[in-house]
Amino acid sequence: MTENLLKENLKKYFGYESFRAGQEEIIKNILAGKDVLGVLPTGGGKSICYQLPALIMDGITLVISPLISLMKDQVDALNENGISASFINSTLTRDGYKKTLSDISRGHVKLLYISPERLENDFFIEFIKDLNINFVAVDEAHCISQWGHDFRPSYKLIPSIYDVLGEISVAAFTATATKEVRNDIIKNLELKEPFIKVTGFDRENLTYIVEKPKDKLRFLKNYLKDHEDESGIIYASTRKKVDEVYKSLKKMGLDVGKYHAGLDEKTRIKNQDDFIYERKKIIVATNAFGMGIDKSNVRYVIHYNMPKDMESYYQEAGRAGRDGEDADCILLYSSQDIIINKFLINQTNNFAFKKYQLEKLQTIINYVNTSNCLRGFILTYFGSEAMAHCDNCSNCLSEVDKTDATIDSQKILSCIYRLEQRYGSKTIVDCLKGSQNKNAREKNLSDVSTFGIMKENDEKYIKDLIGTLIADGYIRVSGGQYPILKLTEKSKKVLFDNEKVFVLENKTDPIKEIERSHRNIDPTDYDDRLFNHLKKVRLSLSKDRNIPPFIIFSDASLKDMATLKPQTEEEFLEVKGVGDKKLVQYGDIFIAEISEFLA
Ligand code: ADP
Ligand code: MG
Repeated sequence: MTENLLKENLKKYFGYESFRAGQEEIIKNILAGKDVLGVLPTGGGKSICYQLPALIMDGITLVISPLISLMKDQVDALNENGISASFINSTLTRDGYKKTLSDISRGHVKLLYISPERLENDFFIEFIKDLNINFVAVDEAHCISQWGHDFRPSYKLIPSIYDVLGEISVAAFTATATKEVRNDIIKNLELKEPFIKVTGFDRENLTYIVEKPKDKLRFLKNYLKDHEDESGIIYASTRKKVDEVYKSLKKMGLDVGKYHAGLDEKTRIKNQDDFIYERKKIIVATNAFGMGIDKSNVRYVIHYNMPKDMESYYQEAGRAGRDGEDADCILLYSSQDIIINKFLINQTNNFAFKKYQLEKLQTIINYVNTSNCLRGFILTYFGSEAMAHCDNCSNCLSEVDKTDATIDSQKILSCIYRLEQRYGSKTIVDCLKGSQNKNAREKNLSDVSTFGIMKENDEKYIKDLIGTLIADGYIRVSGGQYPILKLTEKSKKVLFDNEKVFVLENKTDPIKEIERSHRNIDPTDYDDRLFNHLKKVRLSLSKDRNIPPFIIFSDASLKDMATLKPQTEEEFLEVKGVGDKKLVQYGDIFIAEISEFLA
């Protein structure tokens, strides 16, 4: 197996010049007949890891995928690239099913997608017995683990077909990197001495932004005005909020849809399709939306409310920018969000669960309060190494406004110390402010030397600073429902070694800051007007052919066209994402559009 052959096929079928991290190694191991576990981030390019070897091997590749809604998109995308693929699931009509079976029997199918439940069907098992299947790819393999968030019992059936199929190799893919899940996959899928590849999961094209706007709606409207040509998701915490935000945006005349569990199934599917097919650019949704969305050109994910923990945030925000092009992940929060989340957590009577959820909630409270690099925070949280500055998040880019808060921090920390680390944030604030309220009198706070030492400061300022000190590890929160503030090793450095503490203040407009910096890093050498024109061409083709726009060409491909401005077939083939089939299928149309635009 020469390296050239792999590269040739990558270009021929998928139109890409080079592999992304991990892809080539994984593919080589699959072709060498090894079992494989590939852990790559969302948008990392897991599909090509099994699709490319499937093309090179003889016989059929069986792909097990959890979501029916994704199968069609995946199969459409393969067919668009000139690769014969089919799926079998409950959405097929009887005739469609028969036709698919006959296509497969006649050797016309290279990749067959099924859901794991299909393996319960005896007829299907009998059918695949006689097929030349020598490779099984398991997508979203974390579904086999009870540790994962999407446990699917039917995944456990997968090993039962190994004997039926004879000599096969198995490759499993997931974006979930925890050790428990990884071990579960290897054990439950019975992978034999697998080749394991875990790539870093930093997603460089995502810009992380945290904002605490006085008026969230106003912020949102301003942002959307500047991004009218782009697709994005807005997450809100409740159905009611979704309806509310949806209404306001619609009133503005924006191209917007909505999605939550309160809508009937038909409406939900329609609204989801409207978004995928770009009949609607924006969708406002609860967290019920997103599983099974592979739309690659989501340019922003905005959280209108703070989600319940870091894991949810990372997963939801991660739906932006699968195509590798720049995308924004914006979290808007207010202290109200914390109150609502706590209220929801307090609905349960299970004490241990409550405590667990409150601890999880604290992780995202820390994220919104940190004055350090947001990307660094995320990577560290998920156990990866991180650089101190990414220069592509709202904290790194508003560094100019960092102010020295060492003295105030020392006051807060010594107050915690004087009160013997026995109280929560309310009492600490009462003491610092020199409050005369009931709480202060009952606890005799006026006897403490730190009483009233911050009476000149706003209560809100003190509270925010405490939040930052917690987020950055100077204060530890212990206990569940009535959290107590404790000192840490780090706080001792501030108290006794004069270590400095910085906070971010008056972040002018991080979004503007970020847009400016993007222009500086990569001077946009693509023609913006041509890019927008090509998007329109793509949209109209999508309507004619009833295929989602991003499957015809990704944003990355259109940008490349708007840069290279190809006018011959040869030049068109240079474009990222243009393989043999796309050249034949769309070359003429796009070359003509580009030539006309230039003339
Ligand atoms: P995942 O399943 O890991 O989330 P996908 O397989 O859906 O990711 O790939 C995400 C996007 O990246 C797709 O648009 C895909 O075409 C693109 N992609 C995959 N591999 C490459 C590559 N080597 N070069 C450029 N783009 C790639
Ligand atoms: Mg995938």
